[in-house]
Amino acid sequence: MTLLKMGMVGGGTGSFIGDVHRKAASIDGMVSLVCGAFSSNKERSIASAEALGIPNHRAYTNFEQMITKEANLPEDQRMDFVAIVTPNHMHFPPAKMALEHGFHVICDKPMTLTLEEAIELEKIVHDSGKVFALTHNYTGYPMVKQAKAMIAKGDLGVIRKINVHFLQGWLATAVEKTGQKQAAWRVDPKKSGIGGALGDIGTHAENLVEYIAGIRIDELAADITAFGEGRILDDDGNILLRLENGAKGTMTFSQVATGEENNLGIKIYGTKGSIEWHQETPNELVVRWLDQPKQIYTPGGNGIYPEASAYVRIPAGHPEGYLEGFATIYRSFAKELNEIKKGKKVTKHQDFPTVNDGLRGMKFMYAAVESSKNNASWIKI
Ligand code: NAD
Repeated sequence: MTLLKMGMVGGGTGSFIGDVHRKAASIDGMVSLVCGAFSSNKERSIASAEALGIPNHRAYTNFEQMITKEANLPEDQRMDFVAIVTPNHMHFPPAKMALEHGFHVICDKPMTLTLEEAIELEKIVHDSGKVFALTHNYTGYPMVKQAKAMIAKGDLGVIRKINVHFLQGWLATAVEKTGQKQAAWRVDPKKSGIGGALGDIGTHAENLVEYIAGIRIDELAADITAFGEGRILDDDGNILLRLENGAKGTMTFSQVATGEENNLGIKIYGTKGSIEWHQETPNELVVRWLDQPKQIYTPGGNGIYPEASAYVRIPAGHPEGYLEGFATIYRSFAKELNEIKKGKKVTKHQDFPTVNDGLRGMKFMYAAVESSKNNASWIKI
């Protein structure tokens, strides 16, 4: 493995997810942060670079400068890829520019501000031949991989019903009016897009359903609401789902579910068995059978498929969680980039969310908004 060089857009001092990306990227020792344009404010960008130990000449005042200057460096010095950890309206411009200058990209979700941008980005990724990963980090947990493998192997039989929920309570009061930066841009359609909680956490739930079940959502009927006074974008929603194989499902998401922290959970019922997984207790996968007692699978325990054990980093019985799940996306992305760097043709893609998942998320969000505007009518994704 060669150490990959990462440039970062966003993630300045006081921001949320940028720091998580840096920690996740460093867990497996495959990535080193070499440069960044960390803030929309040039002084803050330089100060953030300094705090992160980035040398002055690789601390950039904006992403345009970073991409142009890095592209002109000798190949063995320039960054290999760009990590984009800005608010949603600032995903597409740096992603497009980076790909068009020959850099791979890893970006946070939702993929873009608009559906039009997502469609264009998919084409740019395809034409560039570069790798694009999207950090739907909940797909990185070993027990999520186990659930996916069990369903793919037919262990649960034919999938008939899915319930997914993603409940948070941090927007139960008007924190956006108190100077809370993360809340302020999330309730602003110019920075967040047409979805509020729908884009922020609903797209994670949608991605988890399609990832674990391996079945796409075909149609939905959505009832989304902005409970917070003066909010334009939704902070809560309930959605009925019809999947392509005929299965039915429900999704409920909220950021005004008072007292909830990060309650993401999923239940999938097949003709022979069912699974249940909760993000707040990620090392337990509950499996129920038609004809046997309930089982609890754990990362280091019996019955784990190689598709899941390949992603376990920690000795049996020791908890692993959020950072490791996030790191799994980085590790898989880095493995693929390493193959490309060595001049190998990638014949089997690593398992990480791609631009196609990003486009699915945007289509899901647009369908849900349209449905809700039409009194929860059924809309095809
Ligand atoms: P944040 O407001 O905490 O941080 C955003 C950072 O981007 C800030 O440092 C800001 O200065 C910087 N920035 C803004 N415009 C910029 C520009 N033009 N150039 C360079 N930097 C710029 O936001 P956050 O909560 O960290 O969210 C960032 C993204 O991550 C969002 O798209 C969000 O949806 C996503 N996110 C994903 C997860 C997840 O579970 N995968 C969790 C939280 C956030």
